Amino acid sequence: MKPARLLLLVPTTTYRTEDFVEAARRLHVDLVVAAEKPNTLAAALPDHLLTLPFNDPATAATLMREYVRTRPIDAVVPVDDATTVVAAAIGRALGLRANAPAAVSATRNKQSMRETLARAGIRQPGFVVASTADDPQVVAAGARYPCVLKPLVLSASRGVIRADTEADLVAAWQRISAILAEAEVQALGEGARKILVEDFVPGIEVALEGMLTDGRLTTLAIFDKPDPLDGPFFEETIYVTPSRLSAATQKAITDCAAQAAGALGLSDGPIHVELRINASGPWLIELAARSIGGLCSRTLSFGTGMSLEEIILRHALGWPIASLERERPAAGVMMIPIPRGGVLERVNSLEAARAVPGIEDVTISMHQGQSIVPLPEGSAYLGFIFSRATTPAEAEASLRRAHALLEFTIR
Ligand code: ADP
Repeated sequence: MKPARLLLLVPTTTYRTEDFVEAARRLHVDLVVAAEKPNTLAAALPDHLLTLPFNDPATAATLMREYVRTRPIDAVVPVDDATTVVAAAIGRALGLRANAPAAVSATRNKQSMRETLARAGIRQPGFVVASTADDPQVVAAGARYPCVLKPLVLSASRGVIRADTEADLVAAWQRISAILAEAEVQALGEGARKILVEDFVPGIEVALEGMLTDGRLTTLAIFDKPDPLDGPFFEETIYVTPSRLSAATQKAITDCAAQAAGALGLSDGPIHVELRINASGPWLIELAARSIGGLCSRTLSFGTGMSLEEIILRHALGWPIASLERERPAAGVMMIPIPRGGVLERVNSLEAARAVPGIEDVTISMHQGQSIVPLPEGSAYLGFIFSRATTPAEAEASLRRAHALLEFTIR
């Protein structure tokens, strides 16, 4: 029997190619990889290395319709946020398992997402959308405080800033405007000329990792975020699963995520949802039609050792998935925060950090000599620390111990 063929859409910057390629290898699928820029080996492997215009989904879908006339494809999988819309367009054009392109597009623009969720009555912060051409003093005078300002089209908390006063709002506005003025951000279109102003939702925060199958949500994991995320910037640090919240709260979280996915019209594939929880219940902060970012998926393993990427590929192929039960031990990941901007000179005590009991790995993703930019302007992490333990508290404690040992020299 011929192996199944799967098209993987790989954005220019992602941490995750390797984990998806490894999953494909384990499943023995014939992998076709598409990127936006031509790969140097493309001429030698024309059937397996494609170049597609990711920001023009209709053209990408037409090119793929042409391609599959002689070389059929069984599934299409986007690797990260940036390729979800084009994957949906290709999936629909080829009759493969995929989300509706309009539903995915709504998740890629925070204004569309908020408007769609508001119509469905999902609990979320009140919001107004302003234009970068507006006078920030006027926006500040009309805003409710505390509030959170954010770009519509960026991710990883880039440009997300809390304001407690009118002066804070004006300062945040200027900082966000400078980020939006960057050429590659302007290229993202109309959304790059707007700023969303939301009510600040007090409370704790969790992330839900889920899989949609024909519109039904299976929760794969709920991660607690034990470090407070109260601003002024919102740097992600520790994620720990399973959640220590009560069963009733976890059910409310799952219900809120399922309703939001339904309201957006998503039907298939992974979702990653950020929610805040307070006395009123869960509040939907953000829902993305992709799996967890960075290298964080390495905390998850299902049934008897299946990776999240393998689950995603199997789902796209319509193959059976023996179990979506997470393997039991608690697990944690720390996205290593950037202490300050500069040039990364060296990282000390890596081996000592790796030797902390419960630590599975410490990965530094920035290289020596690289210039590092903290939030709100930057969006990358120094690296990742992974732990596994019997309880979530132990998994968290190991991460903190390992992180305390690491020394970063930044010039
Ligand atoms: P991004 O897509 O860039 O990650 P989000 O909208 O998810 O942007 O915001 C990033 C983080 O900022 C959230 O995880 C949360 O910690 C914080 N945040 C965003 N909006 C709010 C809000 N309205 N109230 C409180 N915190 C918020």
